[in-house]
Amino acid sequence: MIQVEQHGSVTVIRMARAVLGRPLYWTAAYWLDGLLIDAGPRCTADELVRVLDKVPVQQIAITHGHEDHIGGLGALVKRFPAVRVYAARPTLPFIENPELLGMQRYRRIIWGKPTPFTGAHSLDEVEDVIHTSQFALRVIETPGHSRDHVSYFEPTFRWLFCGDAFIGGRDVAWAPEFDMFAIVSSLRTMATLRPERLFPGSGTVRRTPLPELLGKITDLIQLAEKVRKLDAAGHSTAEIVTMLFGGEPGIHRWTFGHFSAANLVEACRAYNDLTAPAPGADQGARRSGAWHDDLPDPPPRRSTDPGDLRR
Ligand SMILES: [Zn+2]
Repeated sequence: MIQVEQHGSVTVIRMARAVLGRPLYWTAAYWLDGLLIDAGPRCTADELVRVLDKVPVQQIAITHGHEDHIGGLGALVKRFPAVRVYAARPTLPFIENPELLGMQRYRRIIWGKPTPFTGAHSLDEVEDVIHTSQFALRVIETPGHSRDHVSYFEPTFRWLFCGDAFIGGRDVAWAPEFDMFAIVSSLRTMATLRPERLFPGSGTVRRTPLPELLGKITDLIQLAEKVRKLDAAGHSTAEIVTMLFGGEPGIHRWTFGHFSAANLVEACRAYNDLTAPAPGADQGARRSGAWHDDLPDPPPRRSTDPGDLRR
């Protein structure tokens, strides 16, 4: 199943395996000016190639080495043999050898297993800037969802293609490898860029990104604070999961425990360990939620998207 929308110069392509006509889980790729950002999963690769049949695909830039972002590479490279594929250096091993992903069965069912591809280039080769004929996208390191995660920022129009560095909605279950300290730090980096459009891995484009980024940071910090207080009161992980989330959510069952509220509680604890003030430190220095007072003023005027002019 595939859906296509136009946001100015940016084509939003949402992909999902469908069961009985219903999507299981949406993942997005974005096309602009001959550049494709992310490659979607293998299970929708042929549909993606068909959608891109009438446009040039000269470059592909990957945000991170998960199967729903690299799985379509094999089919794309076959259709566009001259394309140059770029990814962060730590992402390259996953593209070359998808066995390293350690995919559980549910991931193979929802997204399909990527075929190995050995021709991808490190973003180091272009000094962390992807140039198209109209745009220049800066590579921004945004780890946390995965260690290798990067985002792409177009500073003239302030577009931020952030992959899974921002995931909307309330967090109720995480995978054990998610790193809350790195996720919050990356969200802060993204907020500091003052994006005017956020293009996340879900394909749900955000037109007012800053309040959403700040809200997500505040939510995570407040959740960690709740866990800290419940830990201090001597509650077990199971009790905290029940008190904060009403028990494990459905995703815990169908991912066979890979995603769980208990993992999220553990991620909060790891965050709390890192951010705990030193003994005797001034508690007033912890200004949770107020850190963004220090952000620079927004840019004075938004440039006009050339794609808007064409419409
Ligand atoms: Zn991911």
